[in-house]
Amino acid sequence: MPLAAYTPRSLPESLSGLFTLALDLRWTWHHGSDELWRALDEDTWEATRNAWLVLNSVSDDRLQELAEDPAFQNSYEDQINAHHEFVHANTWYSDDCPGDLGQGIAYFCMEYGLCESLPLYSGGLGVLAGDYLKAASDLGIPVTAVGLLYQQGYFRQAISTDGEQLEFYPYNDPTMLPVSPLRDEDGQWVRVVVPFPGRPLRLRAWKAQVGRCQLLLLDSNDPRNEPGDRGITSELYTGDPEKRLQQEMVLGIGGWRLLRQLDIQPALCHLNEGHCALALIERAFSWQEQQHTDFQTARTAIRATNLFTTHTSVASGFDHFAESLLRLYLGPWLETRDLTVEELVKLGSSSPTPGTENSDQSLNMAFLALNMSGRVNGVSRIHQKVSQNILQPLFPRWPAEDIPAEFVTNGVHTPSWDSPESDALWTRACGKDRWRRPLQISCPMNDVSDEDLWQMRRLQRSRLVHYLRRRLASQHCEQSPGNNHASACGLLLDNETLTLGFARRFTEYKRPGLLLKDQQRLLGLLASRDRPLQIVLAGKAHPYDHRGKDMIRQWKAFSRRPDVEGKVVFIEDYDLGVASQLIQGVDVWLNCPRHPWEACGTSGMKVLVNGGLNLSQYDGWWAEAWNSDVGWAIRPGATFEELGSSGEHDLSDAGELFDLLEHEVIPAFYDVDNEGIPRQWLQRIRASMDQLTATYSANRMVREYVEGFYLPMMEQGKQRTPETAAAIVSEYREILRHWPRLRFSAINASESEGSQTYTVEVYLDGVDEQRVTVELVAEASTYGPGMVTEMAMKHPLAGSAHSYLYECRVPSRPDGHYTPRLRIRDERLNLPLENSAVLWLK
Ligand SMILES: *Cc1c(COP(=O)(O)O)cnc(C)c1O
Repeated sequence: MPLAAYTPRSLPESLSGLFTLALDLRWTWHHGSDELWRALDEDTWEATRNAWLVLNSVSDDRLQELAEDPAFQNSYEDQINAHHEFVHANTWYSDDCPGDLGQGIAYFCMEYGLCESLPLYSGGLGVLAGDYLKAASDLGIPVTAVGLLYQQGYFRQAISTDGEQLEFYPYNDPTMLPVSPLRDEDGQWVRVVVPFPGRPLRLRAWKAQVGRCQLLLLDSNDPRNEPGDRGITSELYTGDPEKRLQQEMVLGIGGWRLLRQLDIQPALCHLNEGHCALALIERAFSWQEQQHTDFQTARTAIRATNLFTTHTSVASGFDHFAESLLRLYLGPWLETRDLTVEELVKLGSSSPTPGTENSDQSLNMAFLALNMSGRVNGVSRIHQKVSQNILQPLFPRWPAEDIPAEFVTNGVHTPSWDSPESDALWTRACGKDRWRRPLQISCPMNDVSDEDLWQMRRLQRSRLVHYLRRRLASQHCEQSPGNNHASACGLLLDNETLTLGFARRFTEYKRPGLLLKDQQRLLGLLASRDRPLQIVLAGKAHPYDHRGKDMIRQWKAFSRRPDVEGKVVFIEDYDLGVASQLIQGVDVWLNCPRHPWEACGTSGMKVLVNGGLNLSQYDGWWAEAWNSDVGWAIRPGATFEELGSSGEHDLSDAGELFDLLEHEVIPAFYDVDNEGIPRQWLQRIRASMDQLTATYSANRMVREYVEGFYLPMMEQGKQRTPETAAAIVSEYREILRHWPRLRFSAINASESEGSQTYTVEVYLDGVDEQRVTVELVAEASTYGPGMVTEMAMKHPLAGSAHSYLYECRVPSRPDGHYTPRLRIRDERLNLPLENSAVLWLK
C-alpha cells in the first residue's frame, strides 16, 4: 500500500527532500550526504551520527539560512538527484538474477545492527542481519525485514576505575531515531494486535528505510496497553524467559500479522535464528484461512518456502520455553485454531511425529523453526558440521553427515566497513560500482604501488590512534580527575607501532583472556624497544556473565600496570561506531575462540577491505579463508571431531598464538627496506584484499541465498498446491497408522570376495511396498566413510502376508556396522527437512 510521507516538522519548501534523505539509512554507508548534516548541525552530527536527529533538532533560523545559501542548495540538489537515481537504478536483481522472487522475501530477526544511532542490536547476529539488508538493497533483492523497536535495546557499557563493568539503559526516544511511524493511506498509524492472556496486546508499527529495502519494526509501548506490557520491547536479551517469550510472540505473531495488514504476501520466509519461529505458525494460520484447510496441510504446503538459518554452536544456545508458560501465553492465540499447545510443543521438540512419544516437555524454538521449514543452514562450513551434531536429536540414529543442514558462509557489507582511504584506493583500482554487483573474481590492484598502499595503512592507523586518544581522554581522565592520568591521556598509543585489535563479546568461549595466559611473554612483546606491539580491546560481557566480566577486570588491571600503560587500551561501550574505527585502523585483527564454537565470526571480515590482516583460530569463516599467503591461523587444519569442545587446549593455543606473534607477525611488520616499506607485509595485504574481500562480502552471501535457496525453494513451493499438500498429509497419516507395527526380522549377511550381501525381511502391515524404501546404513568408521545403500525388494515372503525380502551388496565391515532403516518413498516429499519424518525401526 502507498504510505504517506512522514513530516514531523516544517522545512523550507526548497529543502523538503531532506526528510527522505534523513530517513533513508543509506547515509550510514553511502556518506554522500554527510556534508549536508554537518552543515545543518556539526556538533550533533559528529556526536550522534544520526541524520534524523540533526534534521529534527536544527533551528528554523539555521534551516532558513541554508535554504538561502546557493552552495548548500546545490549540494542538496545533487544529493536529491543522486537519491532519485539510486531508487530507480537497475540492479543485479533487475538485470542478471536468474529468476523472479515474486512479492519478495520476508526476513525475520530479533536484532538489527544498521548503525550506532539505531541501537536495536547486541552483537554479531544483529550486525549480520543489518549487513544482509544493506547488501539486499545494493543487489535490488525485494526483502521486507521484520524486527522489534527496542526503547532501550542492549545495555550501554562503562567501566569503573577498578575494572567493574557498569550497565546503563538510556531511553531512546523513538521519534529521534531514524525511523518513521508506519501510517496507512488515511494517515492512521498502523497497529497490530496480538492476543495475550485476558487482554489484547497492541503494537505500534514503524518503518526504517534501508536503501531499497524496508525494515518494519514493532513496539509495545502503546499507552493503551497495561503498564507491564508497555515495557515488553524495552530491552534486548534480558534473562527473563517470560519476557523473552512475550518478545518472540510480538516478533513472530505480530510481525506476520503486520505483513498481512499491509497486504504483503511474501514468496518466502527467511528466519534468522529461531527466536522468530512463531512467525511460521502464524504464516500457516493465514494460509489456512485463505485456503480453508487444516493446520497440517498448511504446514506441509508452506514449509517448502520457509528457510531457517541458525547461528548457534551449542544446543544450550537455543531458546526453550516451558509448556506451562506456553499454555498461559499461547492459549488465547491458539484458542480458535486446530493446533493445541501440546501439539505445538511437540512440533518444537525432538520427536515431531504425531503418535511418537515425547519426553521433552519444553518447546525448543530452533526445533520448531526446523520442523516448520524446508531447509536449514549454518553460517560456515565448520558450522554445518556443528549444526549436524546439535540437530542430531531431531534425526535419531542418523549418521551425522546425512543430516540435511547446509551452509552459507556469512559476509559483511563492504561499503559499510571501508575507510575513506580504502574506498578511494579501491575506486581507483577497481571502479566505482565494484561493491554493488557481483565482483569479478578478483581485483589485484596492480596499479596501486606499495607506497600508496602503505600510506593508506599509516593514515588509517593514525586516524585510529587519534580517535582512541580522544575517546580515552573522556573515558580515562573523567575517571581520575586531577591526577597525572589526565596529562598522560594524550600520550597513549603510538602512530607507527604494530597495532593488534581484539573486540567482541566478552564471553568464555571467545577467550578474550588468551593473551593473558602468559603475562611475562606479553610484557616482553609490549616492552620491545625496536619492535613493539600495542593492543586495543573492546567488548561487553552479558550482565549475567560473571566470567566475561572477570576477563574485562583482568585486562583493565593489566592495562593499568605502569609498564603497560599506554600500550594496551580498553575502549568502553563496543558498538558499531567503535567497531568501524577499530577495523579500519588495526594492522592485525585477533580472534581466538575455542574451536569449534565460533559459528562464523564475521568481525575479521571487516578488516579485509581496509588492508588489515587476520590472526585467528582456524575456526568459523577463517577455516575456509585461511592460507599462508593471507594471514595466520592458530591450530591450522584442526577438526572438531579431534578437538571436542572442551577448554583443554587453551594453554597450547596461547603458546601457538605467542609463537606466531613472536616469530612471524612482529618480524614481518618491522621488516622494512631502506625506503621504510615492509614489502613482505604489503604482499600479504595484497593477497588478503584480493583473495578474500569479495568472497567474504554480504553481496556474495545474499546472492548465494537467492540462487541456492530462495529460487529453488520457490520452485518447490509451487508444487505444493493445497491439493498436493492435503494428499501428502492424508497418505502420510495412513502410513503412520501402520507404523508402530512395521518391523525387520532375519537380518543376514554373507561374505564373498571382500563384499557382503545383506538380506532382511520386512513386515509392512499392509502398507504398499511401493511407498517405502529400505536402506542399509553404515556410519563412518575406520572401515570407511558413512554409507547409505538402497536395498532392492527381491520377493514377497511366501506364507506370511505383508512381508518382503530386501537385499543389497556392500563392502565388508564387521558385524553390527550396518543397520537397516525404512523411509517413506514419495517424490513429493522432496524437502530436505522432511527427511526428518524418516522412521527407524528398532
Ligand atoms: C561485527 C560485530 C560483531 C560480531 O563480531 P564477531 O566476530 O562475530 O564476534 C559484534 N559486535 C559488533 C559491534 C560488530 O561490529
